[in-house]
Formats: sequence, C-alpha cells, structure tokens
Amino acid sequence: MSQIVDILIVGAGPAGTTLARSLALKGLHPLLIERAILPRHKPCGGGIPARTEALLGFSIEPVGGCRVTSIALDGAWTGRRIYGLDPSHGLTVVDRARFDEFLARKAVEAGAELRENCGARRVTRLANGFFSVETTRGDTIEARRIAVCDGVFSPTGKALGFPPNVTGFCLEGVMPMPGNISSEARSRAIFNLAMARGGYAWSFPRNDGFAIGIGGPCSNGRFLKKRLRYFLARTPELRGHRLNKLFGGMIPDFAAPRKVYVDRGAWLVGDAAGLVDPLSGEGIYYAITSAIHATESILSNDEQLYGRRLAENLLPELALAARVAARFRSKIPLLIGLALSWPSFGDRAKRFVDLLTGQTSYRDLYAELRPQINKGGQ
Ligand SMILES: Cc1cc2nc3c(=O)[nH]c(=O)nc-3n(C[C@H](O)[C@H](O)[C@H](O)COP(=O)(O)OP(=O)(O)OC[C@H]3O[C@@H](n4cnc5c(N)ncnc54)[C@H](O)[C@@H]3O)c2cc1C
Repeated sequence: MSQIVDILIVGAGPAGTTLARSLALKGLHPLLIERAILPRHKPCGGGIPARTEALLGFSIEPVGGCRVTSIALDGAWTGRRIYGLDPSHGLTVVDRARFDEFLARKAVEAGAELRENCGARRVTRLANGFFSVETTRGDTIEARRIAVCDGVFSPTGKALGFPPNVTGFCLEGVMPMPGNISSEARSRAIFNLAMARGGYAWSFPRNDGFAIGIGGPCSNGRFLKKRLRYFLARTPELRGHRLNKLFGGMIPDFAAPRKVYVDRGAWLVGDAAGLVDPLSGEGIYYAITSAIHATESILSNDEQLYGRRLAENLLPELALAARVAARFRSKIPLLIGLALSWPSFGDRAKRFVDLLTGQTSYRDLYAELRPQINKGGQ
C-alpha cells in the first residue's frame, strides 16, 4: 500500500523543519520524514547568530543555549585578540540535537506530520510527474512535490539527478567544562585561524562544556586530528583537558552557484543544495533562509521563483564569500597567525568577527578588500 501526499519533505534538520512549519502555518499538510529518531547527533558547532534566530520568528530560549559574550581570535603562538559582543547582535551556542528536536516540535505544533525512523531509501520520478519514495520502514510514499532537505550527502538529491556537493571535512567533539575556569572564559568563543589551511579551529561555550572542532577543505583531512591536538595544547582554557568523543563531519564547500536548485517538483534546500558559507562554515542561516524561499515558491506554485529568490538573496553573498575564502586559502596559516599580532591587523580581524556574528555582509567586506583581491589576481 502506498500513501499519497501533496508535499513530502525529506530530512528534519533546520531546512526541513523550517519548511514544514512555514508550509503548515499557511494551511498545507506536509509530511516530514526523518531517518533518525530525534534527538539525534549532528556534527556541528551549534553557533547561531542573532540574525538566524530572528528569521525563525520565535525564541530559541527553551533550547537552553549559551550566549557568547566575547570572541577571542588566536594566532599560532602569538597573542590573542578579544572582542566583546553586543548581546543583541551576538551569538548563541546550542546543542544541535536539542535545537533540531525543538524545531521539529515547532513544525508539528504548526500542523506538519513528522515521521521519525523513516528514511527515504529508493526515490524515483514516476511517469505521471509524482515521486515514489520507498522508506526504511518498508512502505512507499507517493508525493506530488518533494523537498530535498537531507543534508550534505543528499542521497535523495542524487537519486533525482542533482549533482553531488563538493565537501570539506571537520572534526568536532565536546569537552566537559573544566573546573578552574573564569566566568568570562565560560562564555567566550575562541577561533584559531592558524591551525588549518583554508579553515580554522574553534571552541564554542555551551552550558555543559565547550564544543570544539577544526575543519577546512578536504585536503586537510589527515592532518586535522594532529592539528586539533595542537590547538588544545596551545589554548590556555583547554590545555590539559580531554574531549568526550570525536566525530567527523562533512560540510558543503560552496565554490559557485549550482545551475539548478529546483527541477520539476523537486526543491533542493539547505546543505543538500550546498548552501554553506565557504569561509566560516555557517550553514544554519542558509538552511533556514532557503527553506523560507522554498515555502514562497511552493505556495505560489511558481517553481522558478525559488531560483530567483536564491539568486537575489543568497547566491551573490555566497559567491563573494567563495572569493574571500579563496584568498584566505591561498595564505599559509602561520602567516595569518603572525598577522594577528600586528597592530594594524586588528580592524580586519574585527571584520571577521562581524561576519561570524552576522553584523556585516560579504558585499561590504569585499568592497573593502577588493583592491587587494584584484591585485592578487583572484
Ligand atoms: C563540524 C561542523 C560544524 C558546524 N558548525 C556550524 C555552526 O556553528 N553554525 C552553523 O550555522 N552551521 C554549522 N555547520 C553547518 C550546519 O551544521 C549545516 O549547514 C546545517 O545542519 C544544515 O541544515 P540542513 O537542514 O540542510 O541539513 P542537516 O542538519 O544535515 O539535516 C539533514 C537531515 O536529513 C536527515 N536525512 C538524511 N538522509 C535522509 C534520508 N535518506 N531520509 C530521511 N532523512 C534523511 C538527517 O538525519 C538529518 O536529520 C557545521 C557543520 C559541521 C559539519
């Protein structure tokens, strides 16, 4: 027996849950399927800038995130720069398992149907334009329209003929809160730009400890474990403490816009569409924004509107981010670390902090850096 639905959403991360909630709020009855049982682990730093929370339209307070009060930028062995954060433009760090479960609950409250432990296993396009999805529960769902929100590997997207994402690699884990730590350090995020070429190491404060990780383009993969150990050893707050467990995670590496984001009733949203900032690795904002654009496109029965909205609102920023990232990747990490200690570098480093907290755009940053980028032939 197969069930027939109007709209099927595959994957209950920030993209799928936001799409399910916003469609349900407009009176549709989307079916959201998730292969895991929530809460499920998702490799992620869990950094949520205020602009992302504003997009959701509800407070994420119930998730119990940690408000970051300052950001430290560290170099290789040189000193550190610390920037205080304005709480209204700040960064909250959440446990992704709880955050995603909370978003899924919001979608269900709005009227979406959530089916957990229900992975899309075999996805085909039928002659009548519908999609047939065999699930890991052994049943089949036929859908008139499908939203592909199944993350970086996007097996559903691949089955429907969308090209796979180029990816980068990260390692992440949680360190229980060390006992001897000052109250400022308990709410400070640390970035070290000198640990991985084209990427960085981070420590984000959570209520239960620090979410720690390192990531960059895939070529860094085999060095990352060693570099993570070095990061822990040279960061005063973390030195001598251990991570609970280390997870590997892939992240889309946006280099250029895709040619196609929507095709005959199938929308590609969030990580599945490769919409992640290639410099910072921030993806939750893009997952939620693309879900909002997909909602508008689905409700208006205008598929091409999705591509237009992405082209207006997200893709130019990401394309500029890719240019800045290419420039960053061409630098030897040690030099970036050394540059951090130059007094004149302070303003530029502050701009990186503004980007991380969503207070500036790549358009503004690129305008500032254009003379050097053009000189460098990028
Ligand atoms: C180590 C690391 C650190 C990161 N740190 C940050 C950060 O601090 N801030 C930030 O903004 N971004 C961060 N990101 C990026 C961020 O995690 C992603 O961009 C974001 O999760 C994308 O959301 P999504 O809903 O598109 O995909 P996901 O969150 O990956 O959700 C996809 C869902 O689909 C489900 N699924 C997969 N296949 C199937 C299937 N066949 N059937 C049904 N369900 C399926 C999965 O179980 C999953 O629940 C980080 C990424 C990594 C790897």
